[in-house]
Amino acid sequence: MTRRKLVAGNWKMNGSRATLAELDAIAAAAAAAPGVDVAVAVPFTLIAPAAERAPGLAIGAEDVHEAASGAHTGCVSAAMVAEAGARFTIVGHSERRMDQGETSHDAWAKAAAAHRQGLHVISCCGETEAERDADRAERVVQAQIEKSVPDNADGSWFTLAYEPRWAIGTGRTPTLEQIAAIHAIARAKLRMLIGDAADGVRILYGGSVTGENAATILACDNVDGALVGGASLTAAKFVPIVEAAA
Ligand code: PEP
Repeated sequence: MTRRKLVAGNWKMNGSRATLAELDAIAAAAAAAPGVDVAVAVPFTLIAPAAERAPGLAIGAEDVHEAASGAHTGCVSAAMVAEAGARFTIVGHSERRMDQGETSHDAWAKAAAAHRQGLHVISCCGETEAERDADRAERVVQAQIEKSVPDNADGSWFTLAYEPRWAIGTGRTPTLEQIAAIHAIARAKLRMLIGDAADGVRILYGGSVTGENAATILACDNVDGALVGGASLTAAKFVPIVEAAA
């Protein structure tokens, strides 16, 4: 099955109203690459101005709370980010797993909550360096997928992102063989969980993707796009990745 490539940025806790100007060239690159879906997740405070500034881009949130509303001081619900103009959200990012102690079950609940609000979901999984060194990467990723993917997931609203933690922000990436191996295993696990719908689910690779390595990573079997952190902060670094996916 042919799946449209998706290149998604994740600004993390970076950016300001001034840096939204970067979106202008990113939106222009997206318009010049109609075969590629381009998305940028930004901090909550920037969702509304980003969506207003770049209506042609899918602007998203970096996380949502699993509850619709209630006594959760400091949290933001899927309905709130949708109202602000988000079209998608990331869930289960490794930085939330590390910093906030989130689990794969939390990612599952957040994905379901986001789907109820009509948001697309990019759900992250990936092993630590110790787990890879212990030859446990495949089992860890399979277990994370099993616990985090909702039964009703399909490609119309759900995307998986494989992001080895040790590759995030480090400038290090797995070999192409390692990437292809995990993506094949992830696809097989999705098929076990959701059947034929797995064929439509995109699996992104994330972890130190740059304009230099994007083309070879994106050419791997079952790699349907990229989730990009550091290199999504400026158009100069992000646009070459969009172009590599085109
Ligand atoms: C990320 O945070 O999802 C990510 C992949 O970061 P980076 O591209 O900076 O490694």
